[in-house]
Amino acid sequence: MTIQRCPVCDYRYDETAGDPREGFPPGTAWADVPDDWACPDCGVREKVDFEPV
Ligand SMILES: [Zn+2]
Repeated sequence: MTIQRCPVCDYRYDETAGDPREGFPPGTAWADVPDDWACPDCGVREKVDFEPV
């Protein structure tokens, strides 16, 4: 399980926790997050911009 971090606002996506408010239940792999999904906190970065923590 990995954690991915938004380089702009420091939002973190944790595969273990998922992000239910975004429609990703706990355990949703980063690979299953759509490529065009944008950061829910700042909205200016997309999945490809995220960095592993
Ligand atoms: Zn962000």
